[in-house]
Amino acid sequence: MTQSFLTRRLMMTLMASAVTAPAFGATGPTIVATTGMIADAAARLTGLPVTSLMGPGMDPHGYRQTRSDIAKLARADLVLWHGLYLEAQMEEFLLHLARNRPVIAVAEALPRDRLRGHEDYANRFDPHVWMDPTLWALVVEEIARALSTTLPGLAPQIATALPGYQTEIAALDRYTREVLASVPPEARLLVSAHDAFGYFGRAYGFEVQGIQGLSTNSEAGLSRIAELVDLLVARRVPAVFVETSVSDRAVRALIEGAAAKGHSLRIGGALYSDAMGPEGSYEGTWLGMIDANVTTIARALGGQAPEAGRIGQLERSA
Ligand SMILES: [Zn+2]
Repeated sequence: MTQSFLTRRLMMTLMASAVTAPAFGATGPTIVATTGMIADAAARLTGLPVTSLMGPGMDPHGYRQTRSDIAKLARADLVLWHGLYLEAQMEEFLLHLARNRPVIAVAEALPRDRLRGHEDYANRFDPHVWMDPTLWALVVEEIARALSTTLPGLAPQIATALPGYQTEIAALDRYTREVLASVPPEARLLVSAHDAFGYFGRAYGFEVQGIQGLSTNSEAGLSRIAELVDLLVARRVPAVFVETSVSDRAVRALIEGAAAKGHSLRIGGALYSDAMGPEGSYEGTWLGMIDANVTTIARALGGQAPEAGRIGQLERSA
């Protein structure tokens, strides 16, 4: 992976922060993240437990802070959130909290020219950047920078952990490229419940069609369903996917529509879109989440991928 401006900034931060290190209790500093993906990266880098407000299956677009979340946020030494309007219902609260506490939106650091536009809002961006490992690698650098700046005592540990984690991210990107290249070109169409896979499609040459659009709160119109059925039938695409954090009603409508036109379409599996798998499982890490998606997509659309994924750890397969 090439050195980005973020890496250079990070190295300067690490050097500067090695000088001053405040003491924390035996349990270490309290770090709270909004999404599981951010918490996972922060935990990997620091070796500390990191609290994630949103668990498996939760939808960040509609998530609003609970009373217990507010208590956790108020006690945190550092709050990491995504930004790019992902946490639409929490944004005001987090911006308010940021006035007098370390509260950092880590995806906001991405260069604007690497971001996709948001189809519903002219001045906003598609927030689903964790779907492209090369982009997420930049966010991981920003998470490392935010941690090292705010909690300088952790800087040496982070400086040690970061290169190894980046190597794993690069290996995941290579695996993804390899198994998706085995999918027949006409089947490289990913239809899923909401439009979370735009960066994924851009990175790996897949056309992506979301039934609902970028956020999860608009109902799919019947004409949109009909349009997608025509596309799936014309391309003879064998499978569509459900998402763990979104209702699968509309996906089932596609299958019925295709059947009415004599095309057998099946559910190729459940993809992790906006939340990771069960806590404590491989799919409950960002590396496992992406591996699960890529492996499921490749196998369902006629490509070649090992059933248990990149490193033989997937428990669930399509
Ligand atoms: Zn989403």
